[in-house]
Amino acid sequence: MAKRKRILFLHTGGTLGMQSLGDPGPLAPSAIAENVLPYVKGLGDLVDIHGEVLCNLDSSDLSPSHWEAIGSTIFGRRADYDGFVVLHGTDTMAYTASALSFMLEDLDRPVVLTGSQRPVVQVRTDARSNLIHSAICATLDVPEVGLYFGSVLLRGNRATKQSSQAYDAYTSPNLPPLVEMGVGIEHRTPVRRPRGPFRFRPGFDDRVAVLWLLPGSRPSGLRTCVEAGAKAVVLLGFGSGNVPQEGWPEAIADASAADVPVIIGTQCLSGAVVLERYTGGSMALQAGALSAGHMTTEATVVKTMALLHRCRNRQEFVLAWLEDLAGELYA
Ligand code: ASP
Repeated sequence: MAKRKRILFLHTGGTLGMQSLGDPGPLAPSAIAENVLPYVKGLGDLVDIHGEVLCNLDSSDLSPSHWEAIGSTIFGRRADYDGFVVLHGTDTMAYTASALSFMLEDLDRPVVLTGSQRPVVQVRTDARSNLIHSAICATLDVPEVGLYFGSVLLRGNRATKQSSQAYDAYTSPNLPPLVEMGVGIEHRTPVRRPRGPFRFRPGFDDRVAVLWLLPGSRPSGLRTCVEAGAKAVVLLGFGSGNVPQEGWPEAIADASAADVPVIIGTQCLSGAVVLERYTGGSMALQAGALSAGHMTTEATVVKTMALLHRCRNRQEFVLAWLEDLAGELYA
């Protein structure tokens, strides 16, 4: 019999390990998190699982320091485990997945984030299936930060939460799944491979503002962000990254001149930002704006935080922005 692979389950919190506070009452982190394995009978026959509780929080209470703690634990335990499963709340899982993908450079084994829409203690839960399939994904030849939910393993930095209700809560609109789990295990997208030794690159600068444009939005919003100390601004524009022509290109040029990168994303769920397509986007591009391309908003914001930490000025940021760091960029 083949040797069972060693997998570390790192618990960070989320619905999976929650229970109701009173009846009725809100769901809150509970002691279930300390040992979820008894709820998933038979899993231990497939893989050799060890569990550790890193923290036990609703994912809305996680911050970049938690991302770094997860990354550093994975890097520190790399000699002991073939793969890692991070149990995480669904609300901010895509941000953590993006952050891990940028920190765990040249990753050489699977890291799979998962969670559930219902607690593992409930009969009609999706937690058991997600745990089992994530553990299996952590044994596959997929050396990436992935996010498993419903029936698919998605590239973590391409994933976004699409539903607060459905069991297929996550989708990756601009990239097919890495793996689809049905009766068989189907690999759908070629995986990334390390090009050098696995290394850990922590560091995020969270002085990033995100602006959701509205029809008629005034460019003073961007100027206010810069005056308030934002070191980069992500503008969520319309469609393929359009911004209003009046006043916005000038505000973008002024921010750029003040060493503040302005990145244009989109309010659309799928499709890319193509700034050249319309006049407003073109003017923004001329004024120095960068494009989020095919990236999710989560990956865009987290990449911005990572590059702000790594780069000394806007010029360095612009060059680094164009690099595909972890498969976040291309269709
Ligand atoms: N509020 C929960 C969290 O993100 C939601 C979930 O886990 O599904 O921690």
